[in-house]
Amino acid sequence: MARETQSEGRAEGRTHDRIDDRTNGRAGNSPLDASSGALDERYSRQILFRGIGAEGQRKLAAARVAIVGCGATGSALAGLLARAGIGTLRIIDRDYVEPSNLQRQSLFDEQDAAESLPKAIAAARKIAGFNSGIAIEPKVEDLVPANIAALLDGMSLILDGTDNFETRYLINDYAVAHSLPWIYSAAVGSYAVTLNVVPGETACLACLFPDSPRGMVETCETSGILNSAVNLVASITATETLKFLVGSVPQLRSTLLSFDVWTNEHAEISAAKPRPGCRACGERDFIHLAGEGRPHITMCGRNSVQIHERQRPIDFAEMDRRLRPHGVVRHNDFILKFWHDPYEMTLFPDGRAIIKGTTDTAMARSLYARYVGS
Ligand SMILES: [Zn+2]
Repeated sequence: MARETQSEGRAEGRTHDRIDDRTNGRAGNSPLDASSGALDERYSRQILFRGIGAEGQRKLAAARVAIVGCGATGSALAGLLARAGIGTLRIIDRDYVEPSNLQRQSLFDEQDAAESLPKAIAAARKIAGFNSGIAIEPKVEDLVPANIAALLDGMSLILDGTDNFETRYLINDYAVAHSLPWIYSAAVGSYAVTLNVVPGETACLACLFPDSPRGMVETCETSGILNSAVNLVASITATETLKFLVGSVPQLRSTLLSFDVWTNEHAEISAAKPRPGCRACGERDFIHLAGEGRPHITMCGRNSVQIHERQRPIDFAEMDRRLRPHGVVRHNDFILKFWHDPYEMTLFPDGRAIIKGTTDTAMARSLYARYVGS
């Protein structure tokens, strides 16, 4: 079995910190990966491809890539890169699987949704079923300024599977500050967009969009989404990841590319050079990393609110007993769900909560204070 399952049954995050020190991709627990011959066989069609070769495959095995957000795009990226043999994938996601995810989030199934499994955990289990020879590090956490250094430490590349600009600007600040490359990817409706950011060489996200683009406030919640738009952007991003990791620099894309799979409209804006005076990569003013004005309660999709509590470790068994008189409660090792009509509260072990059934942040805060603590 792959590594994630060794720590299965305990709470998220900290128990999954086991880092694999393999550097040549030859280690592995499954008989399939016991020898380099088996490895060569597994990746033979990719090694045959001239751009990769045996040397490139070894570089992929030694690589450490973080995927921030494991919804539709993150799922597709994780699936492609795990099959391609990226040695270590760290999958960071704050959410759990729901039935409405299954139309496009290719790593999950009906059982994951029935169990409300955290996406990072479900993704790690799914990947273990088809590639037990790589290390998967699932992190059930919301990437915020306070934990970004710990969550992205030791990574050679960061991939964007998020659904919001707040997190993307945070990744951009961190990547520019630490000279780490990252790839912006987004899909909404039938529209996909992607950009490679190599600090010191290309434009960064803030070069192109100094502020959160107002015209792009539409989300999957309001505009729907085609799974094919997701797979298009994930395919391009996964390929750029391979090029970057094997050192195929001349082939890397250097534009902001957008493509609408429904209307066939597409556009490219040059992003080969930084914009002089850019707040992030020019002036090195990392306001998102500093977390200025960051709210503790935010809207989180349609009709739900997230409470960013992180310092309130919760004993699920105890909380289950306490909430039982007030509604229906269910918990597993990773999350606790509490239904108190018309609200549904999902609690994570560190105290973070997602409250469905309201867009009123004051109401959400008061429910949390009443049932969890103030
Ligand atoms: Zn910039």
